[in-house]
Amino acid sequence: MQAIGVLGGTFDPVHFGHLRPALELRETLDLAEVRLIPCGQPPHRKPPRATAAARLAMLELAVAEQAGLRVDSRELERPGPSYMVDTLASLRAEFGTTPLCLLLGSDAFLGLPDWYRWQELPQLAHLVVMHRPGWELDDDLAAPLARLVAERRTDRPAALTAHPAGAILFAPVTALDISATAIRALIGAGRSPQYLLPATVWNHIRAQGLYM
Ligand code: ATP
Repeated sequence: MQAIGVLGGTFDPVHFGHLRPALELRETLDLAEVRLIPCGQPPHRKPPRATAAARLAMLELAVAEQAGLRVDSRELERPGPSYMVDTLASLRAEFGTTPLCLLLGSDAFLGLPDWYRWQELPQLAHLVVMHRPGWELDDDLAAPLARLVAERRTDRPAALTAHPAGAILFAPVTALDISATAIRALIGAGRSPQYLLPATVWNHIRAQGLYM
């Protein structure tokens, strides 16, 4: 059974550093689809600059032409902080034993021990870590992460379809040193973020006067 990929984020705004790795992993891991799930209320950081509706609209524009990438708004419909453990539990309830793969940039992976009930995540999904420039994974992982990796690491993508959840895979993706923070800063400084994100998204940002 093909697995479903899950990429959560603030997407403030969505950019090619999200989209290109998502598409590559859909292809290389033969995922049925990747769901981009915008965060309603981020528990670990200050509120996004753009509204939930604006971030959702930008995501819809970004994936409109791309089969296999889709937007899932469940975190925006849920009150309270958007905890990934709740999101995965709701996907698990919906998809039964279909394998789920939580896609995480290496920065997000390194911050995982701060996430609410993070130890339960591997019971709900596989973890797929995508390298992000500037966030190297060396041998010096914090003890809880080192333990997670020692217990669950696989190098075989096939392991992701053999079970609904529980493995951790480090997957190569094209390294793109792009961040939403840098894009917001460019726009705020009156400079162009063209070629860092889809043109449709940049047009929408301009039309709505976002991040100015
Ligand atoms: P911000 O700069 O506002 O913190 P961001 O660019 O890091 O935003 P998020 O929406 O916070 O984007 O990221 C969502 C997910 O996508 C996280 O798992 C993050 O690690 C991953 N991600 C974001 N940018 C990249 C990138 N350039 N390469 C690989 N993964 C990325």
